[in-house]
Amino acid sequence: MHSTEHPEIMWGLGLEPDAATFIETAAGPGYSLRNLPPDAVAWMRGSEGSTQAAWVPWRVWLGLSKNRRSACCQDDGVRRILVLDAEAETLETEQVLAEGFVTAVRAPLTRFKVRDALLRLREMDSLTADLRRKTEEIALERELFVRKSNHLSFLNRVLSRATASLDPTTILSKARSDLKNLLPLTALSAAFWSRPEHGSGLEAELYMPCLLTPPESAQWQQTLIEATERQAGAKVSEYRHVCLTPERNRKPAPALSAGRLLLLPLSVGGEGFGCLALLTDKGLRLAKDEVQTLNACVNHLALALRNALLYRQVKIMADRDGLTKIGNRRSFEERLAAEAARHGRYDLPLSLILVDVDHFKAVNDTCGHQAGDEVLRDMAALMGEGLRSSDYPARYGGEEFVVILPHTSREQAALLAERLRQRVADRVFRASPASSASAGRQGLRLTVSAGVAALLPGASAQDLVLQADRALYLAKNNGRNRVVVAGAQGQNPQDADLELPGQPLAALPEGNSQDAGQDMGRTDMDLAIGQVAGQATGQKRAVV
Ligand code: GH3
Ligand code: MG
Ligand code: MG
Repeated sequence: MHSTEHPEIMWGLGLEPDAATFIETAAGPGYSLRNLPPDAVAWMRGSEGSTQAAWVPWRVWLGLSKNRRSACCQDDGVRRILVLDAEAETLETEQVLAEGFVTAVRAPLTRFKVRDALLRLREMDSLTADLRRKTEEIALERELFVRKSNHLSFLNRVLSRATASLDPTTILSKARSDLKNLLPLTALSAAFWSRPEHGSGLEAELYMPCLLTPPESAQWQQTLIEATERQAGAKVSEYRHVCLTPERNRKPAPALSAGRLLLLPLSVGGEGFGCLALLTDKGLRLAKDEVQTLNACVNHLALALRNALLYRQVKIMADRDGLTKIGNRRSFEERLAAEAARHGRYDLPLSLILVDVDHFKAVNDTCGHQAGDEVLRDMAALMGEGLRSSDYPARYGGEEFVVILPHTSREQAALLAERLRQRVADRVFRASPASSASAGRQGLRLTVSAGVAALLPGASAQDLVLQADRALYLAKNNGRNRVVVAGAQGQNPQDADLELPGQPLAALPEGNSQDAGQDMGRTDMDLAIGQVAGQATGQKRAVV
């Protein structure tokens, strides 16, 4: 029902005046009809929002130019009703619709016909509005679907790339490049923590961008430590830095103040173990679904990182000797094979020291097995002292130790072995005879014998061990508490205590021990291999 104060405009195009008056009257008081001449230039402009009816006689329509007709058809604001003369040809509904008319009425016009046509027009309006709404909904759903599908494939990519590696650094570097598809990310870092069995503080690992100036590095470090302490609810007592490989463009990471920092906790099964720090553009705004994707992504990463950290922990446990916590025999053999292959390929020096504690059985016999264990632990700690990070100390078995020395010549290795022998000889070990445990701990003096060998061109890792073992055998056989170097210059195999095919052996001059220096760069030193040296303990003698 339309108001009579603001009647709805209807248009007529070349209607007979009688017909125009009849239609206006039949339509009711809510309508007003404006009948335009058939050749009207500007006509039938639909008002904003709702459509208007236009009554067009068939003969007038046929008289319009093709352009006029197509202009009428394209005007969505006006719906046309075809008016057929009583004697006009019969038209199929399809033809009426094809010409862009909503419906047709045939003369003689009646009130019912006029109102029915207007009703159809309104029905058409509401159908069109429904259709438009549905189309919009479908378009919106399609857009959401596309976004969801994009997010799913993004998550899938993050997950599969993260789980493809068991190295935290690789996982974080891949995450850094993947997350750039979701966020304007400028830098990424992470902290992982663990609670050591003994002690109240946390041990933390801080994975930070490599290319940072010292003040920026300090800022990142402080932020990561604070986030760790907040999330773990305990103080960090120890931490170490791990450098994340720079991005391909090698641009330095921006300062923290240059962007917005997102600190995201990493946890699996409700148990926190770290946090991810994402530095983004300052004006970062995330839609709800993007926040959900980011959370899902961080959960995926947490799982992959947790696995990688556990794998590393298990690997460390598998590689370490249970008693002394240095490398075990298996990890030693693995490492030596790899180093021998690498050094052989590039013709680089590689040496080995094999150490055996002298008369260790006596320690067990007099002080007990437990005290013996303690001595072995101390001995292992002594093995590791003053080594480079690339050197690898391991327990070879029982009271025997071994040290792999990459990039180290035989002469340098001999000096290191002598320093080690001296350190042990100078050391007072804590142990007490089993029978007098209550009497308190007494100092125990021990010595070691060592065999040194260097990898020869074309030789294998097994050859190297064999050479060191033979040298150690000679050191033992010739009185213990000494270092014997396999293959020293000027030595004649016949002179040796033991007949050794191939490589002759020589004793290290003990007097050189204090000259060995602290230089772990292992500069060449002028060694008088094979000469008899001074007596440090009064027990040593030359082995030739
Ligand atoms: P040598 O100077 O000839 O090397 O004499 P040694 O007594 O050191 O050599 P031997 O091979 O006769 O004895 C090695 C001893 O080391 C025997 C063994 O009980 C002891 N041992 C091996 N492994 C362990 C261990 O894990 N803990 C303890 N307490 N003793 C061990
Ligand atoms: Mg032994
Ligand atoms: Mg021994």
